[in-house]
Amino acid sequence: LLLSLGVLIAALMIGLVVWVSRRRLSLRGELAIAVGRREFVVHYQPIIELKSGICVGAEALVRWRRPDGQMEQPDIFIPIAEESGLIKDITDQVIENVMKDLGGLLAADRSLHVAINLAAVDIHSGRVLQVIQRALAGTNVLAQQIWLEATERGFMDVTSASATIDEARRLGHSVAIDDFGTGYSSLQYLKDLPLDALKIDKSFVGTVGLDAATSSITPHIIDMAKTLDLLIVAEGIEQQRQADYLVEHGVQYGQGWFFSKPLAAADFAAFYHARQKEFGPGPAIIRREIA
Ligand code: C2E
Ligand code: MG
Ligand code: MG
Ligand code: MG
Repeated sequence: LLLSLGVLIAALMIGLVVWVSRRRLSLRGELAIAVGRREFVVHYQPIIELKSGICVGAEALVRWRRPDGQMEQPDIFIPIAEESGLIKDITDQVIENVMKDLGGLLAADRSLHVAINLAAVDIHSGRVLQVIQRALAGTNVLAQQIWLEATERGFMDVTSASATIDEARRLGHSVAIDDFGTGYSSLQYLKDLPLDALKIDKSFVGTVGLDAATSSITPHIIDMAKTLDLLIVAEGIEQQRQADYLVEHGVQYGQGWFFSKPLAAADFAAFYHARQKEFGPGPAIIRREIA
């Protein structure tokens, strides 16, 4: 009986592995078609100056809208896009969508910024900077209004990362390290790279004041960012107590469901205008000065 149970379990496991890899293969094929058909839409999550409540910008978050209307979230398809090389086309389409969606709003209001997520390969090649320049040409949007962010993986090859960040900053963009604390951050490269901002991962925000183990790390991340003179953006703020904690600890910016979920472009514009009425206009250009 034990033996046949073992065989059954093994068969189920093999079945699962086959099913998962088939699903990945078919997703990859579907994704290639989706790129050709430009089935991507971008949602915008407001970024708030925590002390004042002013909305200073938005993070652009891609979604894949299938022809039947079903929305796929990036955690499902971005890893597959990265493996298959499709990510470059997706990055280009996101940039194009951002300009289409928010170009008017950005041109009308210099205090508004939009942050675009880049993949490791985008940082590595730097080609994306030309794509952005072309997208900005002929519009009234400034490079200063476009922030770039990538996770630690994007900065691991310090030589190419430095070159891309230097060029991005020369053009006027600000560059942030995303999901900080979840990868293999070497403090050395953090010190060596001319970054503007650090985004604290939501796993270090959700627990502040609750879970002693992870929340004891949060103040150290904040201190370190301050020591390196980086602007700080906290992700995944869901409750007032988290926002309060972050303000008390000198974190300037934040985003999360407490303020707003990611919104379709028109809804973001409405949110932004309502917020501006209530809290006033934002500071002109937010940037870290690097000597
Ligand atoms: P991320 O850049 O760290 O983006 C933040 C994620 O946290 C988003 O998930 C957002 O919807 C979610 N989030 C925001 N507020 C809260 C909150 O209060 N609580 C919780 N639990 N979650 C919150 P999303 O949109 O599913 O994106 C997942 C990841 O996919 C992003 O993480 C980013 O790494 C990647 N991604 C999204 N758009 C793009 C893109 O255009 N290009 C690339 N290369 N990657 C992207
Ligand atoms: Mg991000
Ligand atoms: Mg993040
Ligand atoms: Mg993430």
